[in-house]
Amino acid sequence: MLIGADGVHSVTRQLIDPAAPEPRYTGQHIVYGFTDKTPVEVPADTYQMIRGEKGFFGITGAPAGGLWWFARVSGPELTSAQAAAVTTAQWRDQLIAVFEADRTPAAAVVAATTEPIVGTGNYDVPTVPTWHNGRMTIAGDAAHAASPAAAQGASMAIEDAVVLAKCLRDIADPATAFDTYERHRREPGAGGAAGAGQRGDEPAAYPGAPRPAVQQRELAPRPPHRLGFPHLTMH
Ligand SMILES: Cc1cc2nc3c(=O)[nH]c(=O)nc-3n(C[C@H](O)[C@H](O)[C@H](O)COP(=O)(O)OP(=O)(O)OC[C@H]3O[C@@H](n4cnc5c(N)ncnc54)[C@H](O)[C@@H]3O)c2cc1C
Repeated sequence: MLIGADGVHSVTRQLIDPAAPEPRYTGQHIVYGFTDKTPVEVPADTYQMIRGEKGFFGITGAPAGGLWWFARVSGPELTSAQAAAVTTAQWRDQLIAVFEADRTPAAAVVAATTEPIVGTGNYDVPTVPTWHNGRMTIAGDAAHAASPAAAQGASMAIEDAVVLAKCLRDIADPATAFDTYERHRREPGAGGAAGAGQRGDEPAAYPGAPRPAVQQRELAPRPPHRLGFPHLTMH
């Protein structure tokens, strides 16, 4: 059995269906940095999300001091090699130009960053027509990659893993198990969460929330499974 949890550029998706859609460039770069300086105080348990005129910015305090930040800004599609070739100084100058007109701390945080700044292109895969074939299936971003703007991809990947595990646990025939998994995890609306959050539009809510986890009546009753944490059980 092959479960492809191999991300937005999944090879397994193409193995299952050679006609599967390619990842779609969203027109945005995601850029990350850390500074040991604190032009603004942000506690370690807080994430400040800033919507600027021309870009989106997020900052959180690092537990040992300093600030972690990310920026989401418009830009042309870059190959991996092109993205890797952009220097810290180039990212810094580009981001300062994007954020300096805003009355927010974004530009000051970027300007205070002397540690490496890295950036990548941002892709999504709103719909994948075929989720399984024979003894192969996909999960997480491989099946429905949401833009980071949707802030849902990791949650969906974890939910996929739990539902798929339950289906394989309780349904002997892999094709039936995969059908059941797909029925519960494919978003009902076109694109669902994976289609949301384009070009900096934050979804007001979670538009295509996947259906609830597999209904108990479809699966064999089992006692709760202890996960190794004293207060956490999976039903
Ligand atoms: C800037 C940013 C912010 C985000 N914010 C949020 C958020 O707030 N909330 C949220 O829920 N989600 C968020 N996401 C999305 C989230 O990170 C992804 O949806 C999630 O990581 C998908 O998990 P995955 O396991 O499906 O894929 P991935 O995390 O991409 O993991 C796939 C793994 O497969 C490996 N792999 C790929 N190909 C192969 C191969 N051929 N052989 C072996 N291994 C392979 C890769 O190296 C990788 O380790 C954000 C993403 C970004 C970029």
